[in-house]
Amino acid sequence: MTSAHFPHGTAHQPPHALPAAASAVDLTKVYGGGARDVTALDRVTVSFHRGQFTAIMGPSGSGKSTLMQCLAGLDSPTSGSARIGDLELSRLSDRQLTRLRRERIGFIFQAFHLLPTLTVAENITLPLGIAGRRPDPQWLDQVVTALGLRDRLTHRPGQLSGGQQQRVACARALAGRPEIIFADEPTGNLDTRSGAEVLSLLGQLVRQMGQTIVMVTHDPVAATYADRVVFLADGSIVDEIRQPDADQVLECMKRFDRPGGARGH
Ligand code: ADP
Repeated sequence: MTSAHFPHGTAHQPPHALPAAASAVDLTKVYGGGARDVTALDRVTVSFHRGQFTAIMGPSGSGKSTLMQCLAGLDSPTSGSARIGDLELSRLSDRQLTRLRRERIGFIFQAFHLLPTLTVAENITLPLGIAGRRPDPQWLDQVVTALGLRDRLTHRPGQLSGGQQQRVACARALAGRPEIIFADEPTGNLDTRSGAEVLSLLGQLVRQMGQTIVMVTHDPVAATYADRVVFLADGSIVDEIRQPDADQVLECMKRFDRPGGARGH
């Protein structure tokens, strides 16, 4: 395989020789003002290396979504920095941020957000069209094959199962060859079996195509598909596990999802 298959250098260069795909240094986000301030992120420093699949876990209200939104340039931190590659997001104008999101970041959400009147193929290339970019047919072909959508391209979302629809959303996120994909509870709307299918496909995209994925999840089984799990509690990173197994993840969740924590259950 040539390096052309690994546009971000994961095949031939060790990931640590390159700047991280995304990183935060002392990232702090305070919502509100005055006495009712909520510190959603409290000096978070973390890096997400290229070609890795990372899960972000933590109790509800621990800052997972805020971290993802600040890293993806959808929200701005109160202080500290967030970078995509070596680009410091706070230095970018709104227009440059929009361009960065379109060109360098892919998003997968819990709700698939497919347009019901468009075919699968049209849904996959829609963001590229909006950005005025021409799809790379060879790359699209590879993506469609990897996600098992070859015989579904002319279907409409309503003719597909939930798992298939989420695979279309994954293909749409990948279509522009993003440097990093942020996935927010990507299996939250799926049954166990379709969820497992989507997660193992995400794992394959990382291992076979060198994709970088950062996924927020509350599901310990979903987290075991990742190479690394980062735990947030009360706006801080409190632990991390590499090559996680479900027992380790559960044990960590029990430790931090405590009454008196951000919410507790
Ligand atoms: P998680 O994704 O882990 O559930 P969030 O990042 O959504 O956590 O939220 C972290 C904290 O910030 C919570 O206390 C939440 O209530 C607060 N928060 C999130 N978004 C806002 C907002 N737009 N305005 C005020 N508070 C917010």
